[in-house]
Amino acid sequence: MSDVLSLMDQWGPEKVVSVSHTRTGMKGVLVIDNTARGMGKGGTRMSPTVTTGEVARLARVMTWKWAAVDLFYGGAKAGIVGDPTGRDKEAVLRAFARALSNEVPAEYVFGLDMGLTEDDAAIIQDELGDRGAAVGTDSVLGGVPYDRLGVTGYGVAEVADALAARIGLPLAGARVAIQGLGAVGSAAVRRFAELGATVVAVSSVHGALYDPAGLDVERLSRLHAEFGDLAVKEYAGGVVQALGSELVVPAEVLVPAALQDVIDEKVADRITARLVVEGANLPTSPAAQRVLAERGVVVVPDFIANAGGVVAAGFAMDARYSAFRPDAEVIRASVSTKLRENAVRVYEESARRGVTSHEAARALAQERVLAAMRLKGRVAS
Ligand code: NAD
Repeated sequence: MSDVLSLMDQWGPEKVVSVSHTRTGMKGVLVIDNTARGMGKGGTRMSPTVTTGEVARLARVMTWKWAAVDLFYGGAKAGIVGDPTGRDKEAVLRAFARALSNEVPAEYVFGLDMGLTEDDAAIIQDELGDRGAAVGTDSVLGGVPYDRLGVTGYGVAEVADALAARIGLPLAGARVAIQGLGAVGSAAVRRFAELGATVVAVSSVHGALYDPAGLDVERLSRLHAEFGDLAVKEYAGGVVQALGSELVVPAEVLVPAALQDVIDEKVADRITARLVVEGANLPTSPAAQRVLAERGVVVVPDFIANAGGVVAAGFAMDARYSAFRPDAEVIRASVSTKLRENAVRVYEESARRGVTSHEAARALAQERVLAAMRLKGRVAS
């Protein structure tokens, strides 16, 4: 159990609400971190091991993410202790939504995170009798199903294109290696191919594929639609490379888009890419970030590169009470513009200040939040 008061610092959390319900066994927590730039917004996680401390850390990440993409929401996150595959999931979700009806939708709106799907968001809307109570629902309900649209992976490839142009490495013809073939990785593969890059390596939990001449992305995408993660084995007739090899194959661009903590100092030393675009959250250790910076490898930090989902969530927030179905092409165009601008800005700031791109991105977000806190009289100006 975290001591909630010990989680509080100058930024937040401003509000922590713990709830429980005896009959369903529901236990959960809502953390509203910082609302200086707008109401708290962040996804809702369901896992057997979620803690108040974990939800508070994730809520803080949302504060920085919204500020970094310059959209006007604050940080928040909710967590439910429970098995997302359990038979009682719907009852638990309904109990959790009811218990937070004082806060939702004025102070918090439910959204997708680990353990919650588009269908769960629809259940929450139903329970509270309010289309504004949750985002991430299927387009059948006028929602923005961000994972199915593949906006995060799309944004990762757009960012790579912007930075590649900035550092004199044209993406057309550049070799790209991608770790992970999930919502982020599979959409990134498609967009990289559209942008003219040569995808030479991809991986899933079942193994890595590598072809120095370039993989057949159309075939891979077809197999992925049918077999999911097993597409790598189907593609290679069962003969796959060792996991982790995809991070160090000869390539100009590397996209870790699976797990956290996959690039440590040793791996960082062996990376051949000139550009690393972090699709996953926290894939690179701070020590590895320094190694890459010393080696002149440009890194686009996670909360800049994978913010496509956040931009889509911004559209979803606006669409909650609209009669019109959001246009996926408009969302993609906005993801592209916002993420490209931010990535180049962070790159230039890190060069100007002589700090890593992660430090520059964090400083940019903090400055924006602090400016809003000053204007609202929350800190002395
Ligand atoms: P996902 O569950 O859809 O896919 C994860 C992929 O990683 C799968 O293909 C899986 O097989 C693969 N994988 C797992 N272990 C692996 C290993 N050891 N080596 C290689 N591949 C492995 O997840 P996702 O939604 O694509 O998210 C991936 C990462 O991106 C996570 O860090 C997530 O937090 C982050 N992220 C996702 C979004 C989003 O919109 N989905 C937004 C921001 C950040």
